[in-house]
Amino acid sequence: MASVGRPPELDSNGDIVVKSLVNVTIPTKLANFLKEKGINRSRLFTDVVSKMFEEELCPKCYSTKIAENILRVHCRECEATIKFKNCENCKSKYQPPFNMFAQPKDKSFEKGCYDCIPDEDRQ
Ligand SMILES: [Zn+2]
Ligand SMILES: [Zn+2]
Repeated sequence: MASVGRPPELDSNGDIVVKSLVNVTIPTKLANFLKEKGINRSRLFTDVVSKMFEEELCPKCYSTKIAENILRVHCRECEATIKFKNCENCKSKYQPPFNMFAQPKDKSFEKGCYDCIPDEDRQ
């Protein structure tokens, strides 16, 4: 059975990402190169812009409503996690549910994680 086109791109909420056609003018040799390599120009353009503005654009729904808290940088529109931050104390990356934010009982510092505070010493 032949499939008709590719499945639509969905954001973290399962909503379809609405798309627009844009025309770009690029050197012919570059266009030929992309064609020879079989590179999808729409995908390439989207990937490059997303990488350039990594912390300003949601990679799932392309919203610019980006927020951050102690644990992560995330999209306020579709709730996608853009990146997990590192613990301020030990620089370990937060990786829920394995490495979460924690505070020490003795309040020797304010912001830590499971990696640097043993279970029994967490608040
Ligand atoms: Zn999003
Ligand atoms: Zn830590």
